Amino acid sequence: MPQNVIIIGSGPAGLTAAIYTARANLAPVVFEGFQMGGMPGGQLMTTGLVENYPGFKDGIDGQQLMAEMKEQAARFGAEMIMEDVVEVDLGRRPFVVRSMSGRTKEAEALIIATGAVARRLPLDTEKSLWGKGISACAVCDGALPIFRNKPLAVVGGGDSAVEEAVHLTQFGSRVYMIHRRDELRASKIMQKRAMEHPKIEILWNKVVEEFLGDAVLQKLKLKDTQSGEISELEVSGAFEAIGHVPNTAFLKGQLATTENGYLITQADSTVTSVEGVFAAGDVQDAKFRQAVTAAGTGCMAAIEAERWLAEQS
Ligand SMILES: Cc1cc2nc3c(=O)[nH]c(=O)nc-3n(C[C@H](O)[C@H](O)[C@H](O)COP(=O)(O)OP(=O)(O)OC[C@H]3O[C@@H](n4cnc5c(N)ncnc54)[C@H](O)[C@@H]3O)c2cc1C
Repeated sequence: MPQNVIIIGSGPAGLTAAIYTARANLAPVVFEGFQMGGMPGGQLMTTGLVENYPGFKDGIDGQQLMAEMKEQAARFGAEMIMEDVVEVDLGRRPFVVRSMSGRTKEAEALIIATGAVARRLPLDTEKSLWGKGISACAVCDGALPIFRNKPLAVVGGGDSAVEEAVHLTQFGSRVYMIHRRDELRASKIMQKRAMEHPKIEILWNKVVEEFLGDAVLQKLKLKDTQSGEISELEVSGAFEAIGHVPNTAFLKGQLATTENGYLITQADSTVTSVEGVFAAGDVQDAKFRQAVTAAGTGCMAAIEAERWLAEQS
């Protein structure tokens, strides 16, 4: 017998979809993932205190939040399988889902909630100081006390980089944008915002060679892409805004995506280009990328899957 619904991914989107579909008696199966596109529990497993998820006035540890969500879904009967999905067949019904151990399951409806992975600079010093002044999310971490009234840097030159820089001006004493070219990739209006902001300074033609600091980030070693000149910049925070990669490789092009690989969903909906397949969370959201928005679209996907299944029968 095929499952009613299979959910792929166990971040806030997947687990919220699991809670809702389990409470609707759909007996969902969740492929939690393993290592292909993050880890079971998703991106929040890699962070400390989450201060902006509603309901926790003093914040909550990222791992604890995800453990609570998983228990909540399991309490209503969601079945968890800690494996990556390596392949799906959306060309037939029921859909076929194959995981890394070779397990095959069929489902009437699918919810894809596989998230996205932030691109990171491939530097050893970045790895060692990650979370100690280096982040990939200004909205998530910018308000932390370690960044208050300190010089900060954003690496990147697109719209997201400008958004992050503008957001950080509320907290930092000065915000440097480190960009490897001599013009920003951001839209004209965003470029104007960055260039005219009194707290933002753009350092053109610069790349980060190394992140320097003992226990926490203290400086960036920069290289000029034109002259090769090396310089140092004192900062207490560096935010990488060099893009995200949505985890869609296992779909092998069976769903419509944007040019950056995000799954396309209909407006105000989680409906994808294949009927019966829904997408929630960061895998379809290049704009907000927050736990609460992922959970919100996970809820939407569950309700839409439930209604779609009801229509089919
Ligand atoms: C360091 C850090 C700190 C953050 N802090 C905050 C914060 O303070 N507040 C906030 O709101 N947001 C924060 N975010 C953003 C937030 O974590 C994401 O917006 C949110 O986790 C997205 O949820 P999601 O469920 O869409 O995807 P994810 O959390 O990315 O989860 C994706 C899931 O899919 C699974 N998966 C991927 N590929 C496969 C596959 N092939 N088969 C099976 N499973 C698969 C993964 O294992 C994972 O379980 C932070 C992000 C990072 C990286």
